[in-house]
Amino acid sequence: MKKVHLTCPKCHSKALLRPASVIFGDKAPDPSAKYYVCARYPACDCYVSAHRRTHMPMGTLADPALRKKRNQAHQALDRLWRSGLMSRTQAYRLLQLHLGLPPEEAHIAKFSMDRCDQVIAFCRQIAKSAGLAS
Ligand SMILES: [Zn+2]
Repeated sequence: MKKVHLTCPKCHSKALLRPASVIFGDKAPDPSAKYYVCARYPACDCYVSAHRRTHMPMGTLADPALRKKRNQAHQALDRLWRSGLMSRTQAYRLLQLHLGLPPEEAHIAKFSMDRCDQVIAFCRQIAKSAGLAS
């Protein structure tokens, strides 16, 4: 397994691969999931999930505000394909083209606040023009 050196964008501490219980206690939605968590957690509340098999980080560590924003961006994008308007793959492809990103960069877990806002606005625009109720 490749060693990953990830730092917290907020406090620049090292991020450590930890089990979900470190963050969620016994309320973890998936107890077997792993996260990269800031070494100063919980004083510094930043983390990002890791891929199940490879344990590679899904993106960059996020604080509560960015996690919330990324969730909103995911919801906006999920809405497009869940509505049956397009497939999930098409939705991501469309987003990738809109943002002008290579496929490996077109992941919401890698996005900043600004980019998430772009995603949300873009998805709203498509949903509106497709006549999806808001
Ligand atoms: Zn930190």
